[in-house]
Amino acid sequence: METPPSSFLPLDALLNNPVFAGGIGLGGLGLAAAFARRSAIQGASLVKRRLLVDLEISKQDDSYQSILAWLSLPRPPADFITSKITRIHHLSMRTISQSSQHGPTHKQYFLQPGYGRHIIRHKNAYISVNREKQTSANLNTGEPHETITLTTLYAHRHIFEDIFAEAHHLAASAQEGKTVMYTSRGMEWTRFGDPRLKRPLSSVILDQGIKERILEDVTDFLGRKEWYVDRGIPYRRGYLLYGPPGTGKSSFIQALAGELDFSVALINLSERGMTDDKLSYLLTKLPPRSILLLEDADAAFRNRRQVDEDGYSGGTVTFSGLLNALDGVAAGEERIAFLTTNHIDRLDEALIRPGRVDMTVRIGEATRHQAGEMWNRFYGDIDEDGKGRERFLERLEALDLVTDATGTKRPKLYTSTAAIQGLFLFNKDNMEGAIDMAEGLIPRTYEP
Ligand code: ADP
Repeated sequence: METPPSSFLPLDALLNNPVFAGGIGLGGLGLAAAFARRSAIQGASLVKRRLLVDLEISKQDDSYQSILAWLSLPRPPADFITSKITRIHHLSMRTISQSSQHGPTHKQYFLQPGYGRHIIRHKNAYISVNREKQTSANLNTGEPHETITLTTLYAHRHIFEDIFAEAHHLAASAQEGKTVMYTSRGMEWTRFGDPRLKRPLSSVILDQGIKERILEDVTDFLGRKEWYVDRGIPYRRGYLLYGPPGTGKSSFIQALAGELDFSVALINLSERGMTDDKLSYLLTKLPPRSILLLEDADAAFRNRRQVDEDGYSGGTVTFSGLLNALDGVAAGEERIAFLTTNHIDRLDEALIRPGRVDMTVRIGEATRHQAGEMWNRFYGDIDEDGKGRERFLERLEALDLVTDATGTKRPKLYTSTAAIQGLFLFNKDNMEGAIDMAEGLIPRTYEP
C-alpha cells in the first residue's frame, strides 16, 4: 500500500500554524523549567544532606535551657556583612522573680530567641537556629513540645561540642553559690523557681553538736560508695528530723544541700494528687546530685489509719506506698533522703530500718544556747561586750522560756527559733527593743 505524501499529514499543517508552534515552544520551556526546579530541589536536599549537619535539642532535654541561655548572650557583630545577620531579630521575654527570704522581690528580665529561624555566627561558623513549638504536647504537664534545631556546615560540626561546653559552663556559673530546688509537676521533676542563694550552714542555729553530727554522717556516707557497692548494699541513707514547726528543719536541709553542693528535690507527702505510684516513680527518677526531702512524713501514716478504718486510702500516699518507694531500686548514684514531721508519735517503727531511716534527730524548741547564738548573729556587732545578750537571756529565763545559765532548772514554757528570729527582725539594730518585747515570745497556746 502506498504511503500518502507527508505534506498530506495534518501534522505539517499544525506545525506550520504559528499559534500551535508557539504553544509547543512555551510548553517545552515550562517542562524545562519544572525539570530544572526539581533538579534544583533535589540538588539542594542532596547538598543539605551531604554538606550540612543538624542537631535537634528537645525541651525535655536537660541542656535545653542552657542552650537557650547561651543563644541569648549578646554577640558582637563580626564584620560589616555579618553584623546584619548574626543578630537575633526575633526575641521573646522571660521574666524571673526572685524573692529573698525577708527582703523585697527582684525581677530580672532575659531576652531569648523567639520562635522561628535565626542565623548566628560562632567562631567562623554560621549556624541556623530554628526554635519550634510542636503540635504534640507533654502528657504530664500539658505544655506543647518544643525543639531547637541547630544546623551548620558538616565541616563545622565540631562547633556543636564547643557550644555545649560553653552553654554548660554558663549554666554552671549561673548556679554557682546557689541551691537548685526541684519539685514534682505531674510525673516529672521541675525546677521550683530559680536557684536560691546558698544558705550558709552557720545561719541555721541548732542545739550544740546536732549540725556537726548530721554533717559528719552524710559526709562519711558520701565517701563510702565503694563500701556499699562491694557489699551489694543499696547506696542510700535516710534521716528523720522531727520536732515542732519553725525550729529550722527545712532551713537546715537547704543549708546542708548548699554545703555539699547538692540540689534539693522536695515532695510534700500530704500534697493533693500525690499517690503511691507517683511517689515511687519520682523517687526512681531523682535529679542527679540532689537531696530528697519528704515533708510531712506523718501524712502517709494518717492515710494508713484511713485505710484501716474505712478501707479507703484518700487518694494520697499510704504507709506501704512510702515504704515501697523508699525501698525502690536505687540507681548507681547515691541517695540521701530527709523525712520531716511535726508528729513523731504518728510514725511507725517499720520506717526505722537501714536505708529507710538510719538516723533520727529531734530538732526541738529554742534552747538557751540557740537563743544566745541567734542574738550574736543579729546584734553581735553592736553588742560588743555581750552584756545585751546576757540581759536578753536572763529575761527569757525569767519568762520561764529557757533554762538557767547552769542548765539545771527546766523551763515551763518553750519558744521556737522562728519566733526569736521574728522578734529580732522586728527590732533590727535595736537590741533594747528586742529585750523589751521578749514577752511576745511566749506562745499563746502551746501544744508540745
Ligand atoms: P521548720 O522546717 O522546722 O518548720 P523552717 O526551717 O521552715 O522550720 O523555719 C522557718 C523560718 O524560721 C525560716 O525563715 C528560718 O530561717 C527561721 N528559723 C527557724 N529555726 C531556725 C534556726 N534554728 N536557725 C535559724 N533560723 C531558723
